[in-house]
Amino acid sequence: MPDANKCIFCEIVSTNRVIDQGNKCFVVRDAFPVTKGHTLIIPKRHISDYFDTTDDEKAEIQNLLMKHRRLLLHCDETIKGFNIGINVGEVSGQTVFHVHVHLIPRRLGDVQNPRGGVRGVIPEKQQY
Ligand code: AMP
Ligand code: ZN
Repeated sequence: MPDANKCIFCEIVSTNRVIDQGNKCFVVRDAFPVTKGHTLIIPKRHISDYFDTTDDEKAEIQNLLMKHRRLLLHCDETIKGFNIGINVGEVSGQTVFHVHVHLIPRRLGDVQNPRGGVRGVIPEKQQY
């Protein structure tokens, strides 16, 4: 795990990029959004692996996911669904080694054929 001092998410936690926070976790918009409103829920503790989060952190992640789903739906009526995703490990595609949960709004027609959704992590297996 990289040094917490050089971690972009440890640096963001004390800036005005944070749009919401609880005791254990904070929320930012993704800097390179997959879709408009792409949001990250991030534990304040510098750990890389979702499976190392505590029950308290998991509970707050869940609360913030529910809250920001509701807020996004309230602000943007074109949002018709979401993908929720966590990359665990470099082999899965993780690029920032500080746990974060992606909340990605989806809109009708944002891709030609959305069928399979997160199955697209292995592109040729997305359709089944
Ligand atoms: P992952 O590949 O699951 O580790 O996701 C890392 C995510 O962090 C990507 O979606 C990036 O767009 C996002 N990201 C990278 N740098 C920043 C930053 N400075 N602020 C917010 N999001 C970022
Ligand atoms: Zn960190």
